[in-house]
Amino acid sequence: MRAKRMMFGAMIALVLLVAGCVGISSGPATPPFAETSPAVTTAPAATEAPGSTEAAPTPDPAAPPAAEAPAVSQEPQTTATVDAAVTAPPTTAPLPTAPPAPTASAAPTETPAPTAEPVAPTEPAAIACVPGALTPTQTEGPYYTANPPETNSLFQPGMNGTRLLLTGYVLDQACQPLPGARVDFWQADAAGVYDNTGYTLRGFTLTDAEGRYSMETVVPGEYPGRTPHIHVKVTPPGGATLTSQLYLPDAVANATDRIFSPALVVEIAQGADGLVGSFNFVVAGR
Ligand code: FE
Repeated sequence: MRAKRMMFGAMIALVLLVAGCVGISSGPATPPFAETSPAVTTAPAATEAPGSTEAAPTPDPAAPPAAEAPAVSQEPQTTATVDAAVTAPPTTAPLPTAPPAPTASAAPTETPAPTAEPVAPTEPAAIACVPGALTPTQTEGPYYTANPPETNSLFQPGMNGTRLLLTGYVLDQACQPLPGARVDFWQADAAGVYDNTGYTLRGFTLTDAEGRYSMETVVPGEYPGRTPHIHVKVTPPGGATLTSQLYLPDAVANATDRIFSPALVVEIAQGADGLVGSFNFVVAGR
């Protein structure tokens, strides 16, 4: 009997113990679940923010990602420029094929300017002549001696006076040169004295193929009543003889000479061996 009681009491105690365990585990179990549920919902939001691309545009000046965003965007640009540099046609390529600078090419073309130097005239000097204007005739005077020698120099060694070389043309009325024309000179010496017994300072010459003549002589002197002058007879081939006289431009007595004519003044220049006189005769042709 006593053992039954002990068995009964143990059973009761066991029941109570089981009942107590069940009551403790079921009662306080709800609060912990309620606290952990919110934590689960917020967790996914936190993990999506860094991965999403839309988070970057959010204007947040304090957030450092804003500064990093341009850095990321710049990288593609640099790579793009590198790719462009490689694939795009080189900009420096046209330079070698381009024509040279215009200044460099223009320089040689401008060099022909210096070639504008005047070419030395090869044509003979113009002959002083007025068509139809015959050389004036003058008196022969009393001292002509016939049959003078042919020569182109009346000058003799030891002869006093200033040497004078007379040159010029014998022309017809159309100012055309007359080759083969006879030009006969006679004159007084530097003291104004004629050689009336001989042929000193007397002689004639013929014009060359171009109608030119030359006679070497001396500057004549004055004699009473006459300014310095040189007598001359010009006879073209087959034509009439023109008799006249030549004068010096700077002779003082020209102003008082009754025969003097400005149309018969010789053009004088200084030569190496004396004076050079130029005068063209215009005579009536054949
Ligand atoms: Fe005379």
